[in-house]
Amino acid sequence: MKGGILTNYPIEEQLLSYNRPGTPLHPEGYVIHATDTPGATAQNEFDYFNSGDRQASAHYFVDWTTIIRTIPENEMAWHAGPTANRKYLSVEMCEPAGYDPVKCLEVWQRTVWLVAAACVRYGWVVREHVFSHADISNMYHETNHTDPIGYLSAYGRTWNDLLTAIAQEVEILAGGKKMKNLILVKSGPDERAAGYLADFLCAPVAYMDAVDPADIQATEKLYVVGGSNKPTPGTVLLSGPDRYATCQAVLDFIHSGHA
Ligand SMILES: [Zn+2]
Repeated sequence: MKGGILTNYPIEEQLLSYNRPGTPLHPEGYVIHATDTPGATAQNEFDYFNSGDRQASAHYFVDWTTIIRTIPENEMAWHAGPTANRKYLSVEMCEPAGYDPVKCLEVWQRTVWLVAAACVRYGWVVREHVFSHADISNMYHETNHTDPIGYLSAYGRTWNDLLTAIAQEVEILAGGKKMKNLILVKSGPDERAAGYLADFLCAPVAYMDAVDPADIQATEKLYVVGGSNKPTPGTVLLSGPDRYATCQAVLDFIHSGHA
């Protein structure tokens, strides 16, 4: 697990040779999609769209390790029908093979960061300028896709959860606002348990030895998974004598419904 949402994720640029009309775009918002090709990575998606005429494309593909920009933000992509294509940026959330909440969380965090950063750059209000493909289908009736709603719901999340997370990230990126929750973990076996807690709290994870002290200061409630270090007196420590006991402590916390 990377340093969570607090990291500015790197973006790889690999520009498409196909499925890219070259039409100028002045983006007015974002459309979030899901690929519906389980197991395919961002690189796999790029390779597919770069190897022939697919009548489809997107500006960004995000998987559990990587963000690839395949079309510049000032050019149109083919992702949601002619009207929306002329207005909006697009990101495709990759889907892990099978049920994999850890990979799903990685995709979620990268997508949240990517879209929030655009909202800050363009001055967009999340609930007015960020759309699901399902929203676009309802607005313009040029497509009938309902992604990424099904992907989110398979992991117990809603579209509203995603908008909420993006709006929180905008506040963090725009500066100064408090984070509700932050989870700290040492690099190693407790990362998986920290991932479960991050999933439950919709909160970012940072490495204990790499966290910015300013982020600790700005956090309302700090959680530490594993070990015995409590950076603040109010820190919630979820820990046991080994990785299994630590994981159990996290699961007990989640099942008790505390948040
Ligand atoms: Zn879509």
